[in-house]
Amino acid sequence: TPDIRPLIAGNWKMHGTAREAAQLAEAVRAGAGAVTARCDLLVCPPFVHIHAASAAIAWQPIAVGAQDCSPHAKGAHTGDVSAPMLVDAGCAYVILGHSERRADHGETDAQVRAKTEAAIAAGLIPVVCVGESEAQRDAGEAESVVAAQLAGSLPDGFAAAKGVVAYEPVWAIGTGRTPTEADIRAMHARMRAEVTGRFGPAGGTTRLLYGGSVKPSNAAAILALPDVDGALVGGASLVAGDFLAIAAAV
Ligand code: PEP
Repeated sequence: TPDIRPLIAGNWKMHGTAREAAQLAEAVRAGAGAVTARCDLLVCPPFVHIHAASAAIAWQPIAVGAQDCSPHAKGAHTGDVSAPMLVDAGCAYVILGHSERRADHGETDAQVRAKTEAAIAAGLIPVVCVGESEAQRDAGEAESVVAAQLAGSLPDGFAAAKGVVAYEPVWAIGTGRTPTEADIRAMHARMRAEVTGRFGPAGGTTRLLYGGSVKPSNAAAILALPDVDGALVGGASLVAGDFLAIAAAV
């Protein structure tokens, strides 16, 4: 979208040691100079590696994010990590409502919305994930499913807080399969209509990422589509050269 600075985000999921996280962050940092004139970069390590990654990235124009946060700011919530803690650890962003969390932990739209509110309250930029299952796409329900997820998962202050949406069809994550360009284009147009309908002009600048089997070989075609304002990258973000090649395709 014109006037929107693209975001290329890496979701490292549950991989690697602290040392490997630092090495990967350092490799991204070392190559980032070639791409950060045109896009923002974000890396999202597992919680325990956030410090190691941020230390390796120090002062470079690469943001660090987490992969989840608690809806609560503090308190008796064993095992959870709050949004203010993420800010304290060096995060600027947090991924919320990823389909793996919706599947593994039964996260609902209402819970994702509560987490998103907590993230915004702490000053984090939320990256809220939505996307249909294969059965839903086959049934012709993809757009209505995503529209309902957006309505349920995004709080009122979302666009004003520069929140990011990631469209990640569940069946395209880690499978090597992607929707057709026409399908991505149609979904992103629908999402743009949903966020502008709800948030007005602020929704016109909401960054809408595509995620699901993005790799260097398909990034240029996907990132050139209207209303695709970047990518959320899983597997390929674990190889610095691939992640940077995707960013270079913006
Ligand atoms: C993801 O899980 O956010 C993702 C896009 O994964 P992959 O790129 O591996 O499909």
